[in-house]
Amino acid sequence: MDLKKLAIILPAYNEEPVIKKTTKILLEILNKMNDKKLVSPDSFIMYVDDGSKDQTWNLTQELHAEDNRVKGIKFSRNFGHQNALIAGMTELTGTDVDYVVTIDADLQDNPESIIEMVELAISGKNIVYGVRNDRTSDSWFKRISAQSFYKVMNWLGVQTIPNHADFRLVDQKILEVFSQYEERDMFLRGIFPTIGFESANVYYARAEREAGETKYPLKKMLSFALDGITSFSVRPIEMVRNLGIFMLTVSGLFLIYTLIAYFTGHTEAGWPMLMVSVWIIGGLQLLAIGIIGEYISKIFLEIKHRPRYVIDKELK
Ligand code: UDP
Ligand code: MG
Repeated sequence: MDLKKLAIILPAYNEEPVIKKTTKILLEILNKMNDKKLVSPDSFIMYVDDGSKDQTWNLTQELHAEDNRVKGIKFSRNFGHQNALIAGMTELTGTDVDYVVTIDADLQDNPESIIEMVELAISGKNIVYGVRNDRTSDSWFKRISAQSFYKVMNWLGVQTIPNHADFRLVDQKILEVFSQYEERDMFLRGIFPTIGFESANVYYARAEREAGETKYPLKKMLSFALDGITSFSVRPIEMVRNLGIFMLTVSGLFLIYTLIAYFTGHTEAGWPMLMVSVWIIGGLQLLAIGIIGEYISKIFLEIKHRPRYVIDKELK
C-alpha cells in the first residue's frame, strides 16, 4: 500500500520564542509516523508567517536549511490567523499531499493527536476534528467567553463542533471542495461541518502556550466572534425585523392609549412616557441600522473580490 503524504500547516505570527521547539517536536512526530509506516518520508511541516515583525521568518529559513521537511510561506503583511490557514491549504490543493493538518504554532493543541488523526484518515475519514475536552489551562475568562460563543453560534443556527478550534485534518478531496468556497470573509470552523463526507473527533487536553504571549487579545477575539456570526447567520437581521414588528404593535397600543387620554382630558400625563419612548425607539433604530450596516459592509468587502492574502516569499 502506498504511504500517504502528510503536511502540517502552522500559522505563525511573532512566534520566535516557540518556533524551534515546535519544529523539533513536530519533526519527531513525523519520524515516529515514518517508523510506524503511517506516512511517507517526504511528509513535511509548513509555516505560514503571517507578517511577523520578529525573527520568525529568519528562524524558518534556518530550520529549512537544516531539514528540508521544514517549509514556509511568508505573507507581505499581517493578514490574520484564518487567512494564514487558508493560504496553507490553498497552496497544497491539487498537489501530491494526501492529508493536511492545521495546528497553532504554540502547540497548545496536543501534537501527539496528529498520529491518531492520521490513523483515522487512513481508515477512511475525510475530516478529523481535534476537540478539547479539558480547558483548565485556559483562563476562566477565555473558557467562559469561548463557551458562550459556541452556545450563541448554536442558537443562531450555525453548525460548529463545540470546543474545536482550527486543529483538524482534512484530506485532498476536502481541500478540493474547500477551494470552491470563494468568500473573502471566512470562518473556517463553520465551513468544514457544512462540507459533509466522513468525519471523526479526536479528544485531547489543551496545554499552556509553550512560550510567548497570546496573539489573540480581547479585541481580536471579539471581532473574530462577530465575523463568525455575521458571515454565517442572518438571524440578527431577522431579530431586528421581529423587534420592528413588536415595536409597531406596541406603538399601536400607545396610539389607543393616547386617544383615550385625549378624549378623557388627561393629555399632559403622557410626558414621561413620551420621553422614554423617544429614547428607546431612537436606540432601537440605531441598533437596527448598525446590524444592517454590518451585513452591508460584508457585501461591500465580498464584491471587491480582493485577494485574501499576498505571498512575499516561499521556502519549498
Ligand atoms: N496567529 C496568526 N496571525 C495573527 C494572530 C495569530 O497567524 O494575526 C497565529 C499564532 O501565531 C498562533 C495561532 O494563530 O499560531 C493562534 O494564536 P494564539 O496561540 O496566540 O491564540 P490563542 O491560543 O491564545 O487563542
Ligand atoms: Mg495559542
